[in-house]
Amino acid sequence: MKTKQDWYALKDTLSLSGQALIDGERVDAQSGKTFPVIDPAREVVLVEAAEGDQADIDRAVAAAKRAFEEGSWSQAAPSHRKKVLLKLTALIGEHRDEFALIDSLDMGKPIAEMIGVDMSESLDCWQWTAESIDKIYGEISPTHGDTLGLISHEPVGVVGAITPWNYPFMMMTWKIAPALAAGNSVVLKPSERAPLSAIRLAELALEAGVPKGVFNVVPGYGHTAGKALALHEDVRVLTFTGSTRVAGQLMQYAGQSNLKRVLTEAGGKSPMLVFDDCADLDAAAQRAAFSIFMNQGEMCIACSRLYVQDSIKEAFLEKLVALAKTYQPGDPLDPETKMGAVVDRAHFETVNASVAGAEQEGLRCIHGGTTQHKSGEGYYVAATIFDEVPAEASVMRNEIFGPVLAVCGFKDEAEVIALANDTPCGLGASVWTRDLNRAHRVARKIESGMVWVNGWGGGDPTLPFGGVKASGNGRDRSLHSVLEYTNMKSIWMSLEV
Ligand code: NAD
Repeated sequence: MKTKQDWYALKDTLSLSGQALIDGERVDAQSGKTFPVIDPAREVVLVEAAEGDQADIDRAVAAAKRAFEEGSWSQAAPSHRKKVLLKLTALIGEHRDEFALIDSLDMGKPIAEMIGVDMSESLDCWQWTAESIDKIYGEISPTHGDTLGLISHEPVGVVGAITPWNYPFMMMTWKIAPALAAGNSVVLKPSERAPLSAIRLAELALEAGVPKGVFNVVPGYGHTAGKALALHEDVRVLTFTGSTRVAGQLMQYAGQSNLKRVLTEAGGKSPMLVFDDCADLDAAAQRAAFSIFMNQGEMCIACSRLYVQDSIKEAFLEKLVALAKTYQPGDPLDPETKMGAVVDRAHFETVNASVAGAEQEGLRCIHGGTTQHKSGEGYYVAATIFDEVPAEASVMRNEIFGPVLAVCGFKDEAEVIALANDTPCGLGASVWTRDLNRAHRVARKIESGMVWVNGWGGGDPTLPFGGVKASGNGRDRSLHSVLEYTNMKSIWMSLEV
């Protein structure tokens, strides 16, 4: 593992590009406009990025469509696409530290987390997805003997992807890898708050042999470039990770345009349930702290609501507060840092306002609290825990997307299931018990796309990732995600018998 000095030395050699990559060429926005990309830990401008809008999206979608119709990728043998994507995986591996550094500078995540989580899980996903593509078979349906019914999976055409800033490399990986593997062309609009790793990835894809026009990246704002992509008549699938509010807008844009399929991975307010028969309270406390404080709490699956059975609550909170003290915000480029800077000034103010609001409501803060910002020293917020939080309190109901935990006790299983489901969201849930029957019962009754029993998180590419309710409808990772970027076609052949 590199030292802090090594990372700073690498930073000095980085050459960052903020240009769009369209049809195999690095280009400025047609308007000539740019926007600044800020390093939130140092409050400096890293680079000016091209501010793409409707004109650039039109150009990128036209290039993607032309490349799809020309067929060198869409109609290539799956084994060929596998080879190219495995080469890309190898190149990403060679550039692992560069990508880790770019995202860390772009959005403030600790470098150790970038290496140990984001890059490691992203590499697994690229490799697994690349290897999967020549193993997907069609089907023959059980029709009458005078017909042959074939069911095949075909690439859809142009896929539009819109991604968030909290896991820039990993979130785009979960979308771009399956969309390309299935033979589609892609236009990606990364978050304006962290667009740089996407641009670099598109360059490496060209180097690996992905043909020009098949993977395009247009940086820009959501309400201009993102909206243009979502409304585009030639985009057949729109894949999105971000807030529930924007997910809803994208579904409207699909309705206003061509009824494109919209795959959404949206916000979360996930619960962790710790029963008094939990076999390992230390492990549960460790995962509870990690879940809400890693990545500064800027995580969709953070368990931001913690329910602990009354009889063990005091002992559990003692452990949790001791662990929270180890999450001191610090320089993201120091490998010892466990919590970095939040993405920008606006987000710093949002998180701080949520904490201040809870304090004004009179909620019991047992660790952390509001933070003062010192100009020029980065946007850091404190790991914060509120106890005895009622169900209707804002910190219990709304996604804060910061290191802020709301805790509440419970008496029994029925009560905690009702509390856990009392949210519009349904992304993940973590359940701690040594009773296997209870584990199954609770896992079935919780309304969420994912449940972790005696654990939390885990980045295996074989398991689908996604939510229900207002947390969205899409599934990233696994063969299910590859199939989301295909159309199912039925071919009916009449036979002479
Ligand atoms: P966001 O919704 O503000 O932005 C996400 C993307 O949408 C950005 O690229 C943005 O430019 C774009 N966008 C914004 N308005 C748009 C519009 N009108 N039309 C088209 N595009 C538009 O979300 P964010 O702040 O970047 O990310 C944080 C959110 O993402 C949180 O709610 C978090 O829970 C969620 N998230 C979910 C998952 C998941 O898998 N469910 C994973 C990571 C993050």
